[in-house]
Amino acid sequence: MNVNAIQIDHLSCFYGERLAVNNLSVSIQSGSILGLIGSNGAGKTTTMKAIAGLIQPTDGTITVNGLTPKNDALDFRTHVAYLPDEPQLFPEMTVFDHLRFFASAYRQKFHKAKSLAFLEKWGLFEKRHAPASRLSRGMRQKLAFCCQLQRSPQLFILDEPFTGLDPHGIQQLKETLLENAKKGACIIISSHLLAVVEDLCSHLLMLETGNVSFFGSMEAMRLLNDHGHDNNQRLEDFFHTHPMNQNKLVDSVGVGS
Ligand code: ATP
Repeated sequence: MNVNAIQIDHLSCFYGERLAVNNLSVSIQSGSILGLIGSNGAGKTTTMKAIAGLIQPTDGTITVNGLTPKNDALDFRTHVAYLPDEPQLFPEMTVFDHLRFFASAYRQKFHKAKSLAFLEKWGLFEKRHAPASRLSRGMRQKLAFCCQLQRSPQLFILDEPFTGLDPHGIQQLKETLLENAKKGACIIISSHLLAVVEDLCSHLLMLETGNVSFFGSMEAMRLLNDHGHDNNQRLEDFFHTHPMNQNKLVDSVGVGS
């Protein structure tokens, strides 16, 4: 039986006077892959940072497998992997030492052979003695992901994780996320690559100016938008024709004309 891995109730986040997320309530079951989409400034990153416990919401509660970022900080951080859109690495630290450092930071036993196998799998083995500053953008993205992946988190929160990855890397990341979801992890992905989101995600949360404009299964979105399109084009169409986005287009046309 699926259980709710994430429960968000009445989440609101302000930056000073600016409302970034407005009264968001959703529950996400373990094993789900949730695609978080919306226009620039819709509130996706703010929502993800709040779920990861990196910003304090103005209002509302968040629990991840019964843990809250405030009351169970240490356990929470071990179970939750947050990957920002810009990989956070130490420029002078080698690739291999990153894996050792992150294992220790999360109180995990370090397995040298396992780490080397990870690097081999992600095409970073040859670079294991190189400092992070000498890696390409895509390699840094892969290393940042490996640093989180090695402790088998129960919740992945990934902000634009496909940026900079080559087609092989995108495929490998998709397969790895599907494997982890099958094992019961919950995955949240924010991305503007709607075809990838539609292909990978089981559920969809669409935000506009901090408000939920759609939350449900990908199947429900397809049924709402069944105009005979190919399977992986319905989300693109749904996004552009959704009433909230249409109003915005009408507004912007009105302002410009
Ligand atoms: P994008 O697709 O461009 O990454 P997003 O959906 O992730 O956008 P957020 O970064 O969550 O959007 O921003 C939501 C709103 O909050 C925007 O209006 C933004 O200007 C505002 N905002 C974000 N971070 C800050 C901050 N540190 N201080 C003030 N306002 C902020």
